[in-house]
Amino acid sequence: MAFLIPDDIVQQVIEATDIVAVISDFITLKKQGRNFIALCPFHQEKTPSFSVNPGKRMYYCFGCKKGGDAIRFFMDHQRISFVEAVSYLAERSGISLPESSGMPQEERTFRTELYQANEFAAEYFAKALASKAPESVRVYLQKRKVSQESVQNFQLGYALPGWNNFLRAAESRRLNPDILLKAGLLGKSEKSGSYYDYFRNRLIFPIKNNLGKIVGFGGRALDPMEKAKYINSPESDIFKKKNILYGLYQAKRRLQEEKSAVLVEGYMDVVSLHQAGISSAVAPLGTAFTEDQVKLLKRYVDRVYLSFDSDPAGIKATVSPIYNLLKSEMGVEVILLPKGEDPDSYIKKEGKKAFCQLIDHSISFFDFLLKQLATYIDFNTIEGKKKFAQEMAPYLNLIRYDLFRFDMYCLKMAEFLHIPEKHLKSMLFSQRESPQPIALGKKYIEPLSKQDKAEQGLILAFVENANYRMIIKDQLSSNFFLNPFIKKSPPFYGNMTRLRALFQSADCFPI
Ligand SMILES: [Zn+2]
Repeated sequence: MAFLIPDDIVQQVIEATDIVAVISDFITLKKQGRNFIALCPFHQEKTPSFSVNPGKRMYYCFGCKKGGDAIRFFMDHQRISFVEAVSYLAERSGISLPESSGMPQEERTFRTELYQANEFAAEYFAKALASKAPESVRVYLQKRKVSQESVQNFQLGYALPGWNNFLRAAESRRLNPDILLKAGLLGKSEKSGSYYDYFRNRLIFPIKNNLGKIVGFGGRALDPMEKAKYINSPESDIFKKKNILYGLYQAKRRLQEEKSAVLVEGYMDVVSLHQAGISSAVAPLGTAFTEDQVKLLKRYVDRVYLSFDSDPAGIKATVSPIYNLLKSEMGVEVILLPKGEDPDSYIKKEGKKAFCQLIDHSISFFDFLLKQLATYIDFNTIEGKKKFAQEMAPYLNLIRYDLFRFDMYCLKMAEFLHIPEKHLKSMLFSQRESPQPIALGKKYIEPLSKQDKAEQGLILAFVENANYRMIIKDQLSSNFFLNPFIKKSPPFYGNMTRLRALFQSADCFPI
């Protein structure tokens, strides 16, 4: 399908768009004569050199020489395509695009109806929170220390208990229940065919896409007996969980300024961090962190701080995004929270300053993985060293594009495992095509017997240290060893190449 928009339509969109209003959505403009000036959003500066000319419908920066019309601004500032920018601005001005511009008219209308249904629902839920919610809901928000500003910033709402409160409100507005069903706001009974409210007695978190459109909702149960603590809208034509990040729309400006994001697990973590001033926090939607989400984030930042719960599930959740982030050549750091804390609980207890200190003391993905592997692999054994290197290989291989970092990590790991760096590297190269990371924490290596460990230690000492080599050679014959492989391979000491190979493969020890 051709993604073409006729020039006259593009011109129509530019003319119908108030460029000052569009740019004001993102930066603060100050009137100066006929024009408006601002600090340039595209480069760092202390005095404004960014100017908007409403008469010509153009902007220009005298500092970095960037300039253009509203479409150009939208593309550059929001990192979106031409078609996306024109579509957004056209919709904003009520101009309908022809079918050839990427999507059949019918589908466009359907999507518009879904967005409208969500807008209506968000308003309805927000009003319900402000006026109809029982005392217990306000107590809950107070207990979680959610401020009124956060309620507004994230358009938090409340879905009343009961099966048809929202349905009745929607009917009174003559909204098509079939659209509401497809938007995931209603369910439909298979037996009776009647509609019912999808969200009931839940705190509602509207979920926006990167352009600020509400695409779905998250609902947190307020009844402690409710089994599903969180539910999300089902997937729809406009709601694909794998390419949405909660909080991204609110975080965008900060992300662009800081070039880094804090990735957290839950909606409440995002709300709390933003409330405390860490407004670069975003979260996946209760699912694994996908490649699409990495791509989305990469439009704005080149570094991600992972901040998940400090429990075993949180540790596991921390490991999983690392591979995809490294694959996209992003910097990855891990924020270590004290035991029993999550970002929400920690920042409420300790405040912004303490959280910023945690960010300052974050550790690299490398140190984090090393630490995790060391909890279940005994890296003092040859088999353990090999396993260790195998588990780390897929991650290290992803940073080859940055040779300096790659070398430093290899060196660090070789020192950590007490093995020659070149052996580690040759192993990494042999695993170059490894398509997927080995699942951390899933494999269990049977411990070696004391005898095996002792023999292994001797071989290691023999390979690594010339002084020990002499002593071992003088004191022990190969008969000393019980390991069948070593027994079968006399004269054992004479062949260093063989020994090194043995050490590398480490397959000689029965486990
Ligand atoms: Zn500039």
